[in-house]
Amino acid sequence: MVFSILLGLGFLFTSIDGLVKDDPIVIIKKYISYDKKRQELSLEYLKKRHGLIKLVPTIDPKIIVLHYTAGGTLESNFRYFNKAEIEEGRAVIRDQSNLNVSSHYLIDRDGKIYQLMDDNMFARHVIGLNYCAIGIENVGSKEAPLTDKQIIANIQLVKHLKNKFPAIEYLIGHSEYLQFREHSLWKETNKKYITYKSDPGDVFLQKVRLGLMELNLKSKP
Ligand SMILES: [Zn+2]
Repeated sequence: MVFSILLGLGFLFTSIDGLVKDDPIVIIKKYISYDKKRQELSLEYLKKRHGLIKLVPTIDPKIIVLHYTAGGTLESNFRYFNKAEIEEGRAVIRDQSNLNVSSHYLIDRDGKIYQLMDDNMFARHVIGLNYCAIGIENVGSKEAPLTDKQIIANIQLVKHLKNKFPAIEYLIGHSEYLQFREHSLWKETNKKYITYKSDPGDVFLQKVRLGLMELNLKSKP
């Protein structure tokens, strides 16, 4: 354990040194459609699932949730998120809302960061917390663990977001979201609506957190 942490630290020091300090973060805008249908379904989700009545589907970011896509490529995932309505096959989550899943960012395996929507817009990516959560998806899966370049990109992006939104207090992996069930931030009207997640992977999370220690983001309630 100590050895792996040391290895992780070694990795970070070499990799972060590789980053040019005054190199600004590069974010490529590649927006999914936020059309009338997505807006309507987002407002409906905010009302039905979170119990929040809003005129515009915006969020106040307090938490960042890291994910992996569980497969596909940058383009196939973009096409998937671009649809406003959830596919028929995902019955468990479709039962709760027709809004499709999406996220604010999608990071490719080469570390390139794509922004899919404005930071303060509503996206469905984590039960109970969507109304205050920014989602970062990474192209990868259990079989294709996230790359070192993705680790560096996630560190850079979280720093950028914390700087932009000082109210962000938490950084979690999707696999950790259930810890918030009894927390005051949790808003889900159906107690039985739960899914079990293993993304984005423990090693990835450990390394991202090592690179963000100075921010003091909390990992649990
Ligand atoms: Zn996820």
